[in-house]
Amino acid sequence: MSKVYNFSAGPACMPEWVLQKAADEMLNANQSGMSVMEMSHRSSDFEKILGDAKDRLRRLMNIPEDYEILFLQGGGSLQFSMVPMNFNKNGADIINTGQWTKKAIAETKKLGKTHIAASSADDNFTFIPKITQDDLDPDTDYVYICENNTIYGTKYKNLPPHEGKRLIADLSSCICTEPINVADYDMIFAGAQKNLGPAGVTIVILKKDMLEQQNENIPSAMLDYKTYVDNNSMYNTPPTYGIYMVGLTLEWLEDVIGGLEEMEKINHKKANMLYDYIDQSKLYSNPVNPQDRSYVNIPFVTGNPDLDKKFVAEAKERGLVNIKGHRTVGGMRASIYNAMPVEGVEALIDFMKEFEEKYA
Ligand SMILES: *Cc1c(COP(=O)(O)O)cnc(C)c1O
Repeated sequence: MSKVYNFSAGPACMPEWVLQKAADEMLNANQSGMSVMEMSHRSSDFEKILGDAKDRLRRLMNIPEDYEILFLQGGGSLQFSMVPMNFNKNGADIINTGQWTKKAIAETKKLGKTHIAASSADDNFTFIPKITQDDLDPDTDYVYICENNTIYGTKYKNLPPHEGKRLIADLSSCICTEPINVADYDMIFAGAQKNLGPAGVTIVILKKDMLEQQNENIPSAMLDYKTYVDNNSMYNTPPTYGIYMVGLTLEWLEDVIGGLEEMEKINHKKANMLYDYIDQSKLYSNPVNPQDRSYVNIPFVTGNPDLDKKFVAEAKERGLVNIKGHRTVGGMRASIYNAMPVEGVEALIDFMKEFEEKYA
């Protein structure tokens, strides 16, 4: 098959520049005579790869010095448990915006008091609930959100109030898609496989003073953030090849794209093209509250499940793959993360027009 445009929600498409560079370096990385996969994680070659990846992420996201950058395994999903295990002492306030917060809520409940500050469940998660400080439980330690809801296509445009509490955010599907002010958060986590590399690496950005507020008796060193801080993410063998690929992706973001302001412009351009087309179309619609629309996950439906199925099948024949919506939403979903080129979105819109002319 020739090269396709891959609209998968994750693992997702990677920049061709990154894949090509990884291919070029596959057999002989940095004149070491071996692949990165074969390197000892204690070697100076690998220490440089890890150090460079951290430095690049710090520069790109403008991460202040009082924040740690950690590389973990276990995906975004292990963070659903690690966050309350480490930081829920007096309770957690969680805003429920879909599948990924539901899972976080289920894990948090096992470990401590869990207060649902707001939820958009009644409207199938098509909006971001607006809360005030009064919606929060006065006793909780932190407010927890999922900033971009990968399945439903919603995104916070403003962070919720959290006076006197920490703010912890799941940025798995929007990290590095736009500049953010890291100091607005106390902890950010993200699985790499949507915007930053392959599956298997989770990035944690943690304000250092969070460690002063940890629970005691964390059952395993591997579940304790302090272990990763004290050992430069190398208490055990880290996901070395994944960290290398994250490093290459950050290099692409910095040196090829030109930083997160530039990346955001491209992402907004792609998203606006697609939303503008959907909004004027007679066939397709997007169910999300316009102010809360995601820039990177765009669900749409025809209103006819049989026609949706036909769309997915015919799109695939045209090399537009993995565009089926999540089973809880139905229809289609175009995930257009950083690595999806503008041409991919143009190709999708061209196909949508043709399909609409044929079947509407
Ligand atoms: C994909 C995703 C997850 C789950 O990530 P895993 O790495 O599969 O555990 C969590 N949160 C969000 C927002 C996601 O998009």
